[in-house]
Amino acid sequence: MISSHSEPRPSDLGDVRTANRAVVLRHVRRHAPCSRADIAAHTGLNKATVSSLVGELIERRLLRETGLTENRVGRPATMLVLDGAPYAALGMQIAADELVVVAVDLAGTRLLTWRRAFAAPTSSPAETVRALAALARRAITRLTGQDRRVLGLTVGVPGLVDADGAVPRATALGWREVPLAADLRAALREPGLTVDVDTDANLAVLAEHRHGAYAGTAHLVHLTGGASVGAGIVAGGRLLRGGRGFAGEIGHLTLDPAGPACGCGRRGCLVAYAGLPAVVGRLLPDTQQDGPVTDFLPEIERIQALARQGDPGVLAGLADVGCRLGHAASVLANLLNPQAVVVGGHFATLAPWLLPAARTEFAARTHAPTSGGCLLDASTLDSAATALGGATASLAAVESGRLPAA
Ligand SMILES: [Zn+2]
Repeated sequence: MISSHSEPRPSDLGDVRTANRAVVLRHVRRHAPCSRADIAAHTGLNKATVSSLVGELIERRLLRETGLTENRVGRPATMLVLDGAPYAALGMQIAADELVVVAVDLAGTRLLTWRRAFAAPTSSPAETVRALAALARRAITRLTGQDRRVLGLTVGVPGLVDADGAVPRATALGWREVPLAADLRAALREPGLTVDVDTDANLAVLAEHRHGAYAGTAHLVHLTGGASVGAGIVAGGRLLRGGRGFAGEIGHLTLDPAGPACGCGRRGCLVAYAGLPAVVGRLLPDTQQDGPVTDFLPEIERIQALARQGDPGVLAGLADVGCRLGHAASVLANLLNPQAVVVGGHFATLAPWLLPAARTEFAARTHAPTSGGCLLDASTLDSAATALGGATASLAAVESGRLPAA
């Protein structure tokens, strides 16, 4: 799994057992169904330890026996899988024109994906917290009605997020200094449920790393497409957060100091060319006549229709957005040498028209031969990638071997 902690810490016997539990859970997640003997053979833990850990994990309903057996030479072995039934984890995302909630079980199976139309960029932080809490409560009610316990909730925000889950700045939402995690905890009044906040890009790359076409890739970047553009970076299998958690803000990379004005107060930022409002505003100038767009899906569908019809203005506009995207991806490739840069959101929806120009620009601007082996590709996850990553993040405590409170 992706971890943001790398420094060694002293351990006592409890820590060792927690770490070993995580090893067993990870092995079963990757190789289920598998037997106790498989776990011992592949993890290096001795059979007695595996047997004791598995017994405890079955008792706490994190693992279950399938009833199937594998016939080996000697005696049959009972097979184990992650127990998907008792627990659920939630992820949410604040997108340009909607709120999304996704629930997964311990095995990563998606239990629900709900969307609620909501224009966060034109709403106050307090209104957004109330809407998030209402949607989360509905999901919690549904899941607890299925006799599941909800372990945690992680919300993805298009902006900067500090270690306390506060948002010092989210230009796409017009937010400054919003203590989102604290406000949401207060609004939910759900003790026993952890509430965390992370950037949408960090959660999207977590989803990509676990569920996407490049799952397991050790050096991976997900570039979010939406009202903001951010890079979620996995380097060496770990999420790269930087000193205060603000790494990956490539949306405000200056591509041209004389370029269009950006919401951040500077000019010519990537997001001012390639962000969702910029793309819609530029390709469909008539949309702005009735004030800011609050529902982007019909506009994106219009752009797709015009591109399919071969509208020269729309095709030229998309090619230019593709160039900007390729430029930004080359900066990531030159700095980080990832194995893949995967683009999501509207970049993925519009990929047939963006990627050809993006790949040409990307190859031309990357210094290493063959772009250092880096592929530039569209995400195969749907537009709920951040929420899916949030749900995955909410499983982190259990996956790291900590048992849910009894
Ligand atoms: Zn900017």
